[in-house]
Amino acid sequence: MRLVIAGASLAGLRAAQAARRAGHEGTIVMIGAEPHLPYTRPPLSKELLQGSQEIEDSALPVDELDVQWRLGTPATGLDPTSKRVRLADGGEAEYDRLIIATGCRARSWNGPGAQLAGVHTLRTLEDAITLRAALPTTRRLLIIGAGFIGCEVAASARSRGVEVTLADIAAHPLLPFGPALGERWARMHRDHGVDLRLGAGIESLHSDGHDQHHDARVARATLTDGSTVEADTVLLALGSVLNTEWLTGTGLELDPAVACDATLTSSHDPNILAAGDIASVPAALAGGARVRVEHWTTAAEHGQLAGRNALLEHHERAAHTSPPYFWSDQYDAKIQALGCPALADRTELIELSPTGEKLVAACVRGRHVVGLVAVSAARRLAFYRRQLQAPPLLAELKAALAQEGGSLGEPVGAAI
Ligand SMILES: Cc1cc2nc3c(=O)[nH]c(=O)nc-3n(C[C@H](O)[C@H](O)[C@H](O)COP(=O)(O)OP(=O)(O)OC[C@H]3O[C@@H](n4cnc5c(N)ncnc54)[C@H](O)[C@@H]3O)c2cc1C
Repeated sequence: MRLVIAGASLAGLRAAQAARRAGHEGTIVMIGAEPHLPYTRPPLSKELLQGSQEIEDSALPVDELDVQWRLGTPATGLDPTSKRVRLADGGEAEYDRLIIATGCRARSWNGPGAQLAGVHTLRTLEDAITLRAALPTTRRLLIIGAGFIGCEVAASARSRGVEVTLADIAAHPLLPFGPALGERWARMHRDHGVDLRLGAGIESLHSDGHDQHHDARVARATLTDGSTVEADTVLLALGSVLNTEWLTGTGLELDPAVACDATLTSSHDPNILAAGDIASVPAALAGGARVRVEHWTTAAEHGQLAGRNALLEHHERAAHTSPPYFWSDQYDAKIQALGCPALADRTELIELSPTGEKLVAACVRGRHVVGLVAVSAARRLAFYRRQLQAPPLLAELKAALAQEGGSLGEPVGAAI
């Protein structure tokens, strides 16, 4: 049996490793758009930028993995009828089973001044190397987008003494965690000296001279609220775009990610599975609706499951059931989330340490808890992970917490 994996990053690598561990002895072809062997992305906005980790430390161990690497060769098309993946070098890869793990790329912005030198995005190792090289000579860094990557880069740049302006069109940073915690994130960045501009997106970028000059460098930005910001380096942290172009016209259901059932099998073709950021998969916490998560742990879990499931017939395949888990490190705060906080309609504080820097908040939709956000409370996660296997009622979660006693402090149970 010939297994082809498109996307040679975390999910793709874990799929190949799992298939071999499950005893697959046939060919595995690993198609990667990037020229590199797989590497891990979380340090790109944290340790690598802070200077506490080197480039080679982000490599994911591939050990003696027996695969045919087709690196630097993006898949450009797919014919599910003849079971062939077309490659950018004109070649093809024939498969019996295909795992799609082509993930996302950074969302670009093509407004005035986007072409100026000193304007960055951050998704790949090259992006991180270029941004890191720019920091020592950066006086003022402007970050557009106060999502996770924007906030992490703000914290990393502040740790190196760079002046940072962080702007977002939203009313608070880290939008998926809801407005109730927003004031906390805003205060955290301001307390670390970040000039936080909320309700203001990017309008245009300008150089000191002629913006059309081929090596003109960014010097300031105009935001949508009319204000201007001096900046010699700009990071556009505007979210991500799915790498699905090569799948258009193939008949695969895209919602816009690759629509799968709980076994990560494409809703259209049992010979095709998807894993990681590109997969849209039914989740119990979403009432069985398909959700897509861009989290490291989910991509790794998906990859492992897809690698095993691809060797089986559809009816034999296992379902992915564990709730999404996410972490983000900013300054001295470890932010962790379980489940689907973005689906909540309100947030309630359920544990708070006496000094206030540690907390757990329940993300509630109707009467059910669909997610949890913890700040610097890592040892509380095991308890909450058990509770979140299916969406509990908020009252049930509070009862379980009262019985367990909590350990951060008194359960609060008040709206934030
Ligand atoms: C800077 C940064 C920091 C992060 N920090 C965290 C964190 O702290 N915690 C957390 O939980 N998550 C974090 N994440 C998210 C996490 O890294 C992703 O969820 C994870 O990388 C997803 O893995 P993946 O294999 O599904 O996709 P990707 O890592 O996006 O890999 C997809 C691969 O497919 C390749 N590809 C694209 N198109 C094609 C094609 N046509 N043919 C062949 N190959 C193709 C791409 O080049 C890429 O190498 C971070 C992400 C970034 C960018």
